[in-house]
Amino acid sequence: MPAHDPGAAALAGGPAGPSALRPLTDTALDALAEGARRRPGPLPAGGPDEVTKRLREAAGDVLPYRGEGAHTALRTLTTALAEGAADPADPHCTAHLHTPPLALAAAAELAAAALNPSLDSWDQAPAATALDTLVADTLAAEIYPDAPTPDALFTTGATEANHLALLLAREHLGPALRIVCGAHTHHSVARAAWLLGLRPPTVLPTPQDTLDPTAVHDTLTHINGPTLVVATAGTTDTGAIDPLTQLAHTAQAHGARLHTDAAYAGLLRLAPRLAHLVDGLHHAHTVALDLHKLGWQPAAAGILAVRDHTDLTPLNWPTDYLNTPDDTDAGLPDLIGRSLRTTRRPDSFKIAVTLKALGRAGLAELIEATVAAAHHLADLIDDDPHLDLYTRPTLTTVLFRPTDTTDTHVATLRRDLLTRGHAVLGRAHAGGRLWLKATLLNPHITPAALDDLLDLVRAPATRTDALTEGTPTR
Ligand SMILES: *Cc1c(COP(=O)(O)O)cnc(C)c1O
Repeated sequence: MPAHDPGAAALAGGPAGPSALRPLTDTALDALAEGARRRPGPLPAGGPDEVTKRLREAAGDVLPYRGEGAHTALRTLTTALAEGAADPADPHCTAHLHTPPLALAAAAELAAAALNPSLDSWDQAPAATALDTLVADTLAAEIYPDAPTPDALFTTGATEANHLALLLAREHLGPALRIVCGAHTHHSVARAAWLLGLRPPTVLPTPQDTLDPTAVHDTLTHINGPTLVVATAGTTDTGAIDPLTQLAHTAQAHGARLHTDAAYAGLLRLAPRLAHLVDGLHHAHTVALDLHKLGWQPAAAGILAVRDHTDLTPLNWPTDYLNTPDDTDAGLPDLIGRSLRTTRRPDSFKIAVTLKALGRAGLAELIEATVAAAHHLADLIDDDPHLDLYTRPTLTTVLFRPTDTTDTHVATLRRDLLTRGHAVLGRAHAGGRLWLKATLLNPHITPAALDDLLDLVRAPATRTDALTEGTPTR
């Protein structure tokens, strides 16, 4: 073992960077392949204790006195990471909005990481700044085709975008701001209210899985003060989409602001056959959207779009070393007001590469194929007398469970599949019962893989049904 591997200290950038990177990339790719070979299913078998034990054995000392060298460390840890991964590219890894990233976008990440532009000042990211603006303008115009001056900020995801949306609402409407949302709203909205020192949101029940405009109207009448209504386009539990146009009219009639969390469904805008599902999205003052969901980007690739770019003014923040006025007057872009972060990754780069490579039509095809797969899965469940379907999917989320079984059995079944490493399914409460949740995001999933997924649920289900016969709950 070398006392010091000079390769471990080589830099990724500069004219010599690519030559240092190429053999390391080969090592990483070989290790990814080896790790995937060692893992027979969508995730490692054995559950947390077993997986942690194996990882610790493989990783050994992560801070040795003498380094083990670039290739050894990269190979060892990449193999261990891949072997122990929940791999969203596996057709049976369908629990969450956990996307299988496009190879193209992952390659773009490598290029961006090598250059490491930081989007907090122009002098750290000249071309990346220009591209960031171009992509932001493009996406903002997709969401707000009718608005003269839309804008978009890149975020770490909808959690940060929701936080920013609430912050902007507070800055525009004052600290007495009230928030009205549905029970199906993502938890990050209540958390953002807490972080911002706002009153906890008024949460309206959503028995039909969507926010009822009449209930919002009644609530706004009762509140009669500065309010932000939060709508959701693509709920986490069922993928339902709120009636966006009606909610916009209701909010407007009461002088309330509207934020739509379209983390999941927002990109349907690009798919001609499905775009009608998000009609009315553009009425919201702010919209959250994640391209690390139905956009197939490695995390993070979130945006917060605003109808009117002047809405972002409260985020301006002068600092002497990054956006001093004489620099700004001389034409250096002021970027600090475009994020709550300082150092900021060029997440727009992989998005730009993806949009350019696939085009509108290519992305629409992927989105439509994934939604079609969800409908096929729902058909298979519908046709099976041993399985219950919660409802037809709106997006790519399908809730189902074995017929005549208990919530406890559903929960156990999910954990068994996880522990055995056979399938990663989510869980969701809906209609007073617990369901298995398949959130399909793999655009290449086949009908056979969907049938296999159901087989995994059916096999133990039929067995345990016999045991629990006569004791179905709720
Ligand atoms: C995924 C999601 C979030 C959280 O977004 P992150 O990207 O994980 O921060 C919030 N709201 C909805 C509707 C989501 O689907």
